Amino acid sequence: MGVDYSTLHDPNAEYTMRDLSAETMNVTRERGGGRDVEITDVQTTMVDGNFPWTLVRIYTDAGIVGTGEAYWGAGAPELIERMKPFLQGENPLDIDRLTEHLTQKMSGEGSIGGVTVTAISGIEIALHDLAGKILDLPAYQLMGGKYRDEVRVYCDCHTEEEADPIACAEEAERVVEDLGYDALKFDLDVPSGHEKDRANRHLREPEIAHKVSIVEAVTEAVGHRADVAFDCHWTFSGGSAKRLAAALEEYDVWWLEDPVPPENHDVQRDVTQSTSTPIAAGENVYRKHGQRRLIEEQAVDIIAPDMPKVGGMRETAKIADKADMYYMPVAMHNVSSPVATMASAHVGAAIPNSLAVEYHSYELGWWEDLVEEDVIEDGYIEVPEEPGLGVTLDMDAVSEHMIDGEELFD
Ligand SMILES: [Mg+2]
Repeated sequence: MGVDYSTLHDPNAEYTMRDLSAETMNVTRERGGGRDVEITDVQTTMVDGNFPWTLVRIYTDAGIVGTGEAYWGAGAPELIERMKPFLQGENPLDIDRLTEHLTQKMSGEGSIGGVTVTAISGIEIALHDLAGKILDLPAYQLMGGKYRDEVRVYCDCHTEEEADPIACAEEAERVVEDLGYDALKFDLDVPSGHEKDRANRHLREPEIAHKVSIVEAVTEAVGHRADVAFDCHWTFSGGSAKRLAAALEEYDVWWLEDPVPPENHDVQRDVTQSTSTPIAAGENVYRKHGQRRLIEEQAVDIIAPDMPKVGGMRETAKIADKADMYYMPVAMHNVSSPVATMASAHVGAAIPNSLAVEYHSYELGWWEDLVEEDVIEDGYIEVPEEPGLGVTLDMDAVSEHMIDGEELFD
C-alpha cells in the first residue's frame, strides 16, 4: 500500500515558475475591432531634468507607440531592457496581467520594492498611453471615468535661503501671485543653526521654534489664498515629530510630510494619532502592499504615493481605492517630467479622493517644453480628451536635454 504517484504526477507536464504570458495562460491576442495588436519593442532614453527622468516607449506592429516614464533612479533603463522579452508578442491591452507577469519574472531582481517596481511603473504608464491610443480613449476613461475635469497641482517651493522665514514667505507670495498656484509645499528639514547632532533625530527646542517661525511666516503670507504643506524627509524621532506636529497645530497646515522614517509603521501611526496636524507619507514605500498598513492602521491622514514609482496608474488607483475605504485623501508625490505628471493627472481625475499632484520643477525653466501640449495652467492640469495620456514628446527638446551617451527613440 502507499501513494500511487502515477496519478499525482504527469511526467509530460512542463514546470515553469508561475508564468502569466499569453502563451502559458492561453490568452488570445486576436480580439477584433482593431485590437489585434502585438508589442514589438521597448526603448528608453534618459533626460537630464532636475532629476534624470527615464522616458519609456513601447512599439507595436500596428505602428502605434505608447509613451511612459519611470521615476528617476539608476538601473531603470537596464531593468526595462531586461523585461523587453516578456512583453514582445503580447497584446498591450492586458495591462494588469502584463504588470503582474513582469513582477513575477523579475522576482530575482527584487520586484516588490525599489527600482524594479519603478521600471515596471514606467512600462505600465506606457501601456496606458498605448491602450488609450488603440481604443481611441483618454487614459482616465480606461480607469472608470472622471470625478473632475481639472486636477489640482501643488508647487514644491525653494529659495536660496531655505532656512530664512522671510525668504520663504516672499517665495510663497511670488508663487501664489506670479505663478498662480493655490497650493504649495516647503521643506522643513532645514538647518536652524541650533543643531547639536543630526544623526540622533532629536529636535531641540530652538530647532522647533525655528521651524514654527518658517510655518508662521509662510502661512501668514499666503493666508487663505493657498494651502501649504511642509516636508521633513524622514528626519526626526517619533517624540520630536510629535512635539513639532503639536507646535504646528495652531497654523492649520495642509499637511506635515514624512516627519519620521518610513519603515516603522508603529511610530508613524503613533505620531499621526497624537496630533490634529495632518500627517502625510507614502512616497518611499512600494506597491499597494507597501501602502497597506499605512492605510489600514490609519498611520497617515493623507496617503502620498508616487505614481511612476509605486507601481503605475492602476496600482495607484488600487491604493486610492483602499484609502477611500478609510475616507483618506491621496496627494500624489511627483518629481517627474510632463509625461508622468500628466499620467498622475489622469489618475487624479479618475479617483474620488484625489487631493493634488505635486509639481517639482519650477526652477528648471524648460519643463513644459518636453511635450507639445500645455500641461499645468494656473496651478491646475486640465485632463486631456486626446487618446492615451494626451501628451506628445517634443523630440527636439528630448534630444537637446538627453543625458550624454543616451540615444533618441526610433
Ligand atoms: Mg516628500
